[in-house]
Amino acid sequence: MSFSLKAPTFLRRGALLTMMLLLAACQPSPTQTRIQGNTMGTYFVVTITDPYPGGKAALDQEVNALLVRMNKEISTYDPDSLISRFNRGPANEPQIIPAAMARIVQQGIDAGHLTQGKLDVTVGPLVNLWGFGPDKRPIKRPSPEQIAKARERVGIDKLTLSRQGDDFLLAKSIPDLYLDLSTLGEGAASDEIAALLERKGVDNYLIEVAGAVRSKGHNSQGNPWRVAIVEPSDRPGAIEDVVTPNGMGLSTAGSYRNYYELDGQRYSHIIDPATGEPVTHKLVSASVITQTTLEADALDTALMVMGPEQAMAFARQHHLAVYLIVKTEQGFEAIFTPEFAPYLPAREQPEASRPST
Ligand code: FAD
Repeated sequence: MSFSLKAPTFLRRGALLTMMLLLAACQPSPTQTRIQGNTMGTYFVVTITDPYPGGKAALDQEVNALLVRMNKEISTYDPDSLISRFNRGPANEPQIIPAAMARIVQQGIDAGHLTQGKLDVTVGPLVNLWGFGPDKRPIKRPSPEQIAKARERVGIDKLTLSRQGDDFLLAKSIPDLYLDLSTLGEGAASDEIAALLERKGVDNYLIEVAGAVRSKGHNSQGNPWRVAIVEPSDRPGAIEDVVTPNGMGLSTAGSYRNYYELDGQRYSHIIDPATGEPVTHKLVSASVITQTTLEADALDTALMVMGPEQAMAFARQHHLAVYLIVKTEQGFEAIFTPEFAPYLPAREQPEASRPST
């Protein structure tokens, strides 16, 4: 069973903001340290309420160093990154990759199998063809021939990750396979920052890398961290729902903000690998809560490919904590699984238990 509530208008890309950020005028309390910046073509914010060894400067330096390292591994926007060199490299010549990158690739492969190819980390040629990767946007709709040609290069069966002793080996069976981990990068970054903080003895933190959120413990008032799904209307800071992730990973994918219009048709950045085309259904946004933000980040994109009915059926089948926003004739409607309900403290239970149609 899923639940239904009317939800307001549109969602921005990564439409999650911390309550702290929404109360933008608030200064960090004396027991709270916050750093923020840009990475992976988007933003990040880290807030902690424990001391960090070396203070704020060390926190800032070490988080940024981690993110620079991740970009050097998995950014398809950097021609010198490891992934770009792998993509340009030859077939059937396994390349050693770092364990952190292997974890992301493995998640991509696992989620690809679980979702029967809805998530496909080799979908890059189609993403680029439609102008959502490092390549420029097309000035006309790609032809069926171009789409078919790009699709020949897609499929996780053409990608192999193996282990030899301590080494992780990545290989491809065709030379022009194009691995694209863009959809997983933010979730992976949230998890890696969380691991860094915990190694440094920080047990109370909130990490946001765009729509990928990890939290643990409490804020400077001693309360659990609360994250808002904002109403990204013209009303700045308007909240759609409040989530307490309680130490779990929370990730949101949306189709509403990252799109363009061509000849009167709207094209979103979520590509259905089965058709080779951007999705056109009414699912506007998908949020998932799982143990790690990496896994949540993989699943939210897959749900966005599936569309509302299939996504909700998949979530129920796998007992996932999922929150969807669907475009309707009247506006927008939020539906969520029973597993998501405990993370929505602001919902009044009688309202939240209204079954969806
Ligand atoms: P998500 O829903 O998390 O992912 C959607 C993205 O996944 C799509 O944009 C597409 O790339 C891909 N995708 C679409 N359909 C599928 C599918 N079926 N299966 C798998 N993947 C799919 N962007 C920039 O503009 N400039 C940069 O310099 C830049 N650097 C980056 C560096 C790194 C390391 C990473 C990981 C990403 C970078 N990006 C950059 C991309 C950008 O930040 C986002 O990752 C991207 O726009 C999608 O993120 P999202 O949260 O909007 O959507």
